[in-house]
Amino acid sequence: MAMLNTLLKVIDDEKLKMDKDMIRLAFDFADEAHQGQLRKSGEPYVVHPLETAITLAKLHLDQETIIAGLLHDVPEETSVTLSDIEKNFGQNAAQLVEGITKLGKLKYRGIERYIENLRKMFVAMAADIRVIFIKFADRLHNLRTLDALEEPKRERIARETLEIYAPIANRLGVWQLKGELEDLSFKHLYPQEFEDLKKRLDANFSERRDMLSSMKHEITKAMKKENIPIVEISGRTKDLWSLYKKLQIRNNELERIYDIVALRIVVPTVADCYKTLGVIHNKWLPMPNRLKDYIAQPKPNGYQSLHTTIFCAKGKTVEIQIRTPEMHRTSEIGIAAHWHYDEKGSIKFDKKLEWVQELTRWQQELRDHKTFLDSLKIDVFQDRIFVFTPKGDVIDLPENSTSIDFAYHIHTKIGDMAAGARINNQIASLDTALKSGDMVEIITDKNRKGPSLDWLKFVKTRAARDKIKANAPRGIWQTIKGLRKK
Ligand code: MN
Repeated sequence: MAMLNTLLKVIDDEKLKMDKDMIRLAFDFADEAHQGQLRKSGEPYVVHPLETAITLAKLHLDQETIIAGLLHDVPEETSVTLSDIEKNFGQNAAQLVEGITKLGKLKYRGIERYIENLRKMFVAMAADIRVIFIKFADRLHNLRTLDALEEPKRERIARETLEIYAPIANRLGVWQLKGELEDLSFKHLYPQEFEDLKKRLDANFSERRDMLSSMKHEITKAMKKENIPIVEISGRTKDLWSLYKKLQIRNNELERIYDIVALRIVVPTVADCYKTLGVIHNKWLPMPNRLKDYIAQPKPNGYQSLHTTIFCAKGKTVEIQIRTPEMHRTSEIGIAAHWHYDEKGSIKFDKKLEWVQELTRWQQELRDHKTFLDSLKIDVFQDRIFVFTPKGDVIDLPENSTSIDFAYHIHTKIGDMAAGARINNQIASLDTALKSGDMVEIITDKNRKGPSLDWLKFVKTRAARDKIKANAPRGIWQTIKGLRKK
């Protein structure tokens, strides 16, 4: 089938290790299930899951994820069930599809639903981050074909993407995808502004393109002289939505934005990166205070590169980004770059904690700097906190909750037998107030006779309070209750 070949070619081009017969089976299964269904654009429905799977393959996701991408709309849109999927493709693929189906049931209904949506995203992420990637790929194709839909559905999807999906993609470091999600949403939400900005950029574009290609030539020559091998050298233009937002801060002056065009130089080693920087500064005057060494000091999300802005012809400026192939991969696909495959070709999840920590840092940042939430004038974490179990599950509690609230949230028995707690691997007293991002582990004592009434002085949740009262060992409290009854 010609359509499927596009996906198989990406798998070959990206050198992904997977069983292509299984991919073929999944495609045929989806094709069969969606038989006779059309997208709003008039195309056969199966084009949509196929495009979703292609995006996932480009992000180097594993076989199960690509299969789940192909099947992601089957339970929702056809008579074929999740258990049919499980029978044919196994439990893991079925669970991914189930995760997507659940997420799909969440509808964006404006800012008041935002908190709930974000919370559900966190929980889905904690269950399996691959679900989020399938959702991103699904959304990307929906945005690419958004013209086929009518208002207000179009606006809802674009706004939801801009406010929920893109910030999460950003934080996971999947910038390529993030940029495309944003620009497609931008085009639909603010068509006039989008066109205006595009025209303004195009007016400068031919000049800038010439400038870049002559710079490329000069740099290549100079680096050859210094014996620094070049893996890749290419120009890129800033994404429109991020440019639009920057312009709003910078008084709408295009001239004050220095990274509209950037030249990326990929060289084999870190030492080569610094040598290349020397070559560049030797040839062009660097702009003061624009040199950023993200190799020595990576961004919180792990991004690494050297950035410098130089003056070139006619007082124009160009940003230069210098990095190794490994850094480049991380910058393109973010957190997915850190996954690795075992002999059987499936993703190893011993790295799972890494992204849990990433989320932890993110939430910390949200509290400290309130980055993207600031622009929305809303503090999602105003009166709720998100803490993690050692396995990476997200637990949502009221502010100032303690380990006892956490313990009862997990299970009544855990609460009743709680003897101590570790917060972020450090022993902490049971009345310590938890903060968003904390990883909490409850130490239980099987010989414990039940909860302590003292806990009532500091617990915050009603569930914990009720259970402590009900399960505390018989003593004064029961006596009082008994007396009251009489
Ligand atoms: Mn879909």
